[in-house]
Amino acid sequence: RKSSMTEPLALVGRMDAAEETAWLDALAAALPGESVAPFRALDAQARARTEIAIVANPDPAEVRALPRLAFVQSLWAGVERLVGELGPGAPPIVRLVDPSMSRVMAESVLAWTYYLQRDMPAYARQQRSRVWAPLPYRKPRSMTVGVLGLGALGAAAASRLLDAGFTVAGWSRSAKALPGVETYVGDDGMTALLARSDIVVCLLPLTAETRGLLDARRFAEMKPGAALINFGRGPIVVAGDLIRALETGAVSHAVLDVFDEEPLAPDSPLWTRPDVTVLPHVTGPTDMESAAAVVASNVLAYRATGRLPRQVDLMRGY
Ligand code: NDP
Repeated sequence: RKSSMTEPLALVGRMDAAEETAWLDALAAALPGESVAPFRALDAQARARTEIAIVANPDPAEVRALPRLAFVQSLWAGVERLVGELGPGAPPIVRLVDPSMSRVMAESVLAWTYYLQRDMPAYARQQRSRVWAPLPYRKPRSMTVGVLGLGALGAAAASRLLDAGFTVAGWSRSAKALPGVETYVGDDGMTALLARSDIVVCLLPLTAETRGLLDARRFAEMKPGAALINFGRGPIVVAGDLIRALETGAVSHAVLDVFDEEPLAPDSPLWTRPDVTVLPHVTGPTDMESAAAVVASNVLAYRATGRLPRQVDLMRGY
């Protein structure tokens, strides 16, 4: 590691010692010419010189204690909490866009789409009652998967689903041209997508606009008996409305990786419903090595050119 006058990179995050060591090692390996130190190891002088904070769930006061930040590099892809906690005067925020995370998320979406397409929840129910009853095979092409959010993760998922032969539709804020995917925008576009999708996959970020987006009205617009996969953020779905939609059969099954409160409260009714699959926020894990490589390329580009990586738009919230 370089010593003396190089501006240090500050690692700022509420994490345990083992995780901190692992991040410091991964970042040091990806950035051999830089000095990376945890916030608490920086003295006042070093803090005053720090230009880049690499953050994972940071204490906002620690980020504010770095007055000369050019940007804050998140180690997480979802930044709604960071944007909220740092507030309007925040330095530019750069979120993690890691192709290897996109690949793993696309794999997760495909896995849980197969779970639904191949009727695994129904076979699990049948097995519990010793019922031997083959259900008709549904060809992937005969099933439409509607992907809400066509960003780094949604676009990768859509393309993986296409490769697997599913009919794929997508919805985003701005119009998109994805080969083979029928894309929609706007309120009416969402209505049209929901009406034709057998499986709705949510890979939206949590923003003022998407909070509570999937509510009773939207479940009523879904194709009767369609399934929901939410891998975006919990509060995008109104949980009470989802439970009512499951009770009436409007929605047949929900695979949920994200929740209003995480970990999911022990008394949540979602735990015990056979028509809900609860996952503990595992579908798009951060890989430290590939994340550190992404961070390194952002840092090195900034050092070489002074240009900032693509930033979160604080007005849009993502
Ligand atoms: P991106 O910012 O790349 O993509 C977001 C997509 O959502 C874009 O297509 C955007 O539209 C669309 N969108 C945002 N707001 C709206 C809106 N109001 N109406 C319609 N479309 C909208 O994010 P990523 O793909 O990288 O990640 C998505 C989310 O996934 C993250 O924010 C995070 O919350 C979640 N996530 C979950 C993980 C898990 O383990 N479960 C792991 C990692 C992330 P446009 O293209 O027009 O801008």
